[in-house]
Amino acid sequence: MNVHRHFAQSYTQARDKFVAAAGARSADLFRHVHPALHGVEGEDLSIDLALLGKPDAASLLLLTSGTHGVEGFCGSGCQTALLREDPFLRAIGHSDIAVLMLHALNPYGFSHLRRVNEDNIDLNRNFVDFGKPLPVNSAYAEIHSLLLPATWPPTTESEARLDAWVAQHGRAAYQAAVSIGQYAFHDGMFYGGSRPTWSNRTLRSVLREHVAGRRRLAWIDFHTGLGPRGHGEKIYAGLENAGDIARTKAVWGREVTSVFDGSSSSARIGGNIGGAARDECPDTEFCGIALEYGTHDIEQVLEALRVEHWFANHPEASRAHYKEMKRKFRDAFYVDDDDWKETVYTQALAACLQAVEHLSRATAHA
Ligand SMILES: [Zn+2]
Repeated sequence: MNVHRHFAQSYTQARDKFVAAAGARSADLFRHVHPALHGVEGEDLSIDLALLGKPDAASLLLLTSGTHGVEGFCGSGCQTALLREDPFLRAIGHSDIAVLMLHALNPYGFSHLRRVNEDNIDLNRNFVDFGKPLPVNSAYAEIHSLLLPATWPPTTESEARLDAWVAQHGRAAYQAAVSIGQYAFHDGMFYGGSRPTWSNRTLRSVLREHVAGRRRLAWIDFHTGLGPRGHGEKIYAGLENAGDIARTKAVWGREVTSVFDGSSSSARIGGNIGGAARDECPDTEFCGIALEYGTHDIEQVLEALRVEHWFANHPEASRAHYKEMKRKFRDAFYVDDDDWKETVYTQALAACLQAVEHLSRATAHA
């Protein structure tokens, strides 16, 4: 299959390809339009859903893209290619499984080429219980003003202080400090928010409407930016629950990594979207992964995040190199090469077929 034609160059194009492919399969389509904001081309922003297979199936495979806005180029391409994949759709047709594809959970970030959403919130840190005390990230507080200094490029002195912090604590501690999420700096990086976002509330309503009441859920959330180029790391993406972790490993194999035992290249993040399944469909058996594809070196990705974030916080700054910076930012999360798209999609298809096989077997034994 000519895979790369299913990958897009903009949010609008990605959405059009997805909706067209879903329509060609006579999928049930649902659309949740953002109530207030528009995209970079003035377009409506929406979370789109395509439901395939038997509507009342006991098991559901959920595929989500664009949790981190700009990372949606990858997930959307995989979703659209899957919708054009006859063997995959045949496997669904022969089973008691429904497939729900959720396109662009964070359409604002997808369109405007941001990892965060319209409120500067990292959606994958936003699924915490805001009724309880929020996690404290004191390491981030130490380096916030060095990561995002008053001027850009940073002064030599500011960078030297950041380098000294990294030298003292180590690179892993630095990656963790930046990326585990923080709830104290609303203009900071990897900010988890102070309340559930529109995307959070919409996802929860989708889970209640389409997942609650089913026996089993297998969930793949597509991400990019961590790990070796083109390699898809399967990171367990639920709560710290031994049964759910064991089930997820039974589906996708022992290569499944977890932030709870230190086996993942991701730091121990809190508030990921998988936690919503426990809240909204507590009686549904859960297994789920973030399929995290490597793009570029972690240092390069972190630097791209810093500079893009700085410009978002400083609309008054010169826009002379803004377009170039945004292009580099997109490229940090989307390798626009055919070989990358092919390897990414091959792994996505394999992971989906693994999930379908597991759900079919579980249904047969029920
Ligand atoms: Zn991500």
